[in-house]
Amino acid sequence: MNFSLYGLPETVVHCKKCLMHNQKPFSVNEVKNKTGTDKKGMKINHNGLCAACDYSMSKDMSVDWDSREKKLMEICDKFRRKDGNYDCIVSGSGGKDSVKVSHLLKYKYNMHPLTVTFSPLMYTDVGWRNIQSWISKGGFDNYLFSPNGKVSRILAREAFFNLYHPMQPFKFGIKSFAAKMAKKFKINLVMYGESYVEYGSDKKDNGDAPSYNKEFYINDNPDIYLGGRSIDDLIERYNFSLNDLSCFLPITSDELKNHELTVEHLGWYLKWDPQSAYYYAAENSDFEADDQRTDGTYGKYSGIDDKMESLHYYTHYIKFMIGRCRFDASQEIRNHHIEREEGISLLKRYEGELPIRYLKDCLEYLDITDSEFISRTDQARSPHLWEKNKDGLWIPIQEIEEMKNK
Ligand SMILES: [Zn+2]
Repeated sequence: MNFSLYGLPETVVHCKKCLMHNQKPFSVNEVKNKTGTDKKGMKINHNGLCAACDYSMSKDMSVDWDSREKKLMEICDKFRRKDGNYDCIVSGSGGKDSVKVSHLLKYKYNMHPLTVTFSPLMYTDVGWRNIQSWISKGGFDNYLFSPNGKVSRILAREAFFNLYHPMQPFKFGIKSFAAKMAKKFKINLVMYGESYVEYGSDKKDNGDAPSYNKEFYINDNPDIYLGGRSIDDLIERYNFSLNDLSCFLPITSDELKNHELTVEHLGWYLKWDPQSAYYYAAENSDFEADDQRTDGTYGKYSGIDDKMESLHYYTHYIKFMIGRCRFDASQEIRNHHIEREEGISLLKRYEGELPIRYLKDCLEYLDITDSEFISRTDQARSPHLWEKNKDGLWIPIQEIEEMKNK
């Protein structure tokens, strides 16, 4: 039966402009994410465009970037401090976007950013060199927070088996980390690079605005699931204390009661695209691209700091038929760097590729065998997206026409 395992529409509808389709889940409030939680997919509008293309076309046509930059200057004037304290937080691992955000704020807009890092699960060599360059060549103070490795591994393993999403607890920790550090250092502004609207979020969630809704980083719901298990269950099962898990948990409105916090993204104020962020970071902080393309795609400079990242995109491909190449090529089509046809030929070559380079490291980290990996992967394939052919190979169905004779 052709139903979606994840509560997504049974018929795949493709965007006419980029390569995305309606199986892309909206960024959900992941604390509620447990096995069997339904997701909402990205809408394709009456013109056949996905939410990300719709947003990017409206931006191309109607945004007055000069007036937006003036607004950025006003925000900086409002928050800038001259008393020796930091006045904004930039959270990142030393990737191109966090480098560009912090560098622009400090050296162009005369702010005093504190950069903070919630450590990746497994730094790659190039990722580690890039965070060092960020601090030493870019010129920033940085707090590197490394969560308890034993706990991180157990949570990632639970998340792999329960959600087929090994990075979920980590992504969760990272989401509230900047707000927690802002509170600790009495800083009132957090600045990110791109908004998730760029990737086709539900517009009514945060609209076309520079600020994130508070629900993005605050959560008061006591019914929290990490890696698909309740907090009480994890504590009992692994003999954890609440303290072991607290760095992964969201910040509550009570904790922020006496702390005014504004969380924004620079991509609203300044035209932002990954390629120009890469060139900027390379020029100003000696940011290095990888020496080979990333598994599952053709790029060399996005999301290269964590060995787990390629497996993360692979699981996304299995669940939603949207892998890393589809993300990259779609965004480059929207940013006018490539044509749709070129995107399709990239998809044919790289989409859904097994992330072989770091797979052994990932499976060791998660403490799972090859056969456990394969069997959990097959369980995660939704019957409306996959079928086995006569040779026993899994074939994506409901793909765009051009992909059928791959
Ligand atoms: Zn699109």
